[in-house]
Amino acid sequence: MARDSLTIEAQLGQRTAELEAALRENESLRRSLRESEEKFHRLVERSLVGISLSDGHRFIYVNPKFAEITGYSVDELLHMGPLDILAKGDHSQASEMLLRGLAGEIISNFSTIINILRKDGTMVIGELTGGPSVDVDGKPALIAMIEDITGKVRADDKIKMLNYRLWEQAVRDPLTDLFNRRYFEESLARELIHAQRQGQTVGLVMGDLDHFKSVNDTCGHQAGDQVLRAFAGLMKQYSRGSDIPCRYGGEEFLLLLPGITEEKALERAELLRTRIAAIPVECHGQTLYVSASFGVAVFPQHANDTDTLISVVDKAMYQAKAAGRNRVCCVDISAE
Ligand code: GH3
Ligand code: MG
Ligand code: MG
Repeated sequence: MARDSLTIEAQLGQRTAELEAALRENESLRRSLRESEEKFHRLVERSLVGISLSDGHRFIYVNPKFAEITGYSVDELLHMGPLDILAKGDHSQASEMLLRGLAGEIISNFSTIINILRKDGTMVIGELTGGPSVDVDGKPALIAMIEDITGKVRADDKIKMLNYRLWEQAVRDPLTDLFNRRYFEESLARELIHAQRQGQTVGLVMGDLDHFKSVNDTCGHQAGDQVLRAFAGLMKQYSRGSDIPCRYGGEEFLLLLPGITEEKALERAELLRTRIAAIPVECHGQTLYVSASFGVAVFPQHANDTDTLISVVDKAMYQAKAAGRNRVCCVDISAE
């Protein structure tokens, strides 16, 4: 009997010890779970990326960074939905994505650029990362992370603009703002290849101011510069979108005319000739008029390559000079 009661007591003691050990283990598990949850919560709360969880209509959770990006408080956002923080133009695409997300049609992570309409009415550009829906209390919910990339986009735009400016400086003549000789040569080679492939023509008009040295000598270099700018202005004014007006040298200009006929190229040169001759130049209280001589050549009928085309148009221009200046001459193939 005494032995039996001893056995029961021993068993009880053993069970109690086991139970206490299980409770201790349980408590330690709960503690580490709580610690890990707190760690995770702190991480999300302090994240440098805006994080939100929504049921598609309303936000269920937003972290402080999400609130900071949108300009609303966390409490305000919890009474709002994803569409409320988007610019109107993004609504239809966002609605579709939300519906597809909730329907389980999105199966992998995706990234897209959105326009966020902040509480104060200003816009920021955000990079949104989303993914497949997650289960929250038995219902599908969507996680969205946003990063404010406005500064990055503006910096990219600035770099693009600076690159464009550098390119402009490399291809433009500073005095007249026309394309320079280097750009002309590149363009002529490119246009001839293109024209050859397409079976098209390329016209070239060369214009050179007459007795320009005496304009400088009598009216001064600055007045000469004015004339160069006026002539460049006419070249731009009478150019179509695909035409390339260039300053080839000092007072020598070239107009590259892709797809033009000889007749139309001659008409254009004639137009420039009459217009420049009608521009008055004020010189020491007197009015002068400056004329120009023009040569015209067309690929492929007058030349088959860039160097020959430039050489024949130059010859045509010198023919105009030799014939008395202030005129337009076309390449004379019979004279070649
Ligand atoms: P032609 O009728 O035979 O063409 O005679 P021209 O005097 O125009 O020709 P020439 O080649 O003897 O002189 C060209 C002049 O163009 C000489 C130069 O001083 C002037 N020139 C070249 N570049 C510039 C410039 O940027 N500004 C000014 N003002 N003059 C320039
Ligand atoms: Mg000249
Ligand atoms: Mg000249």
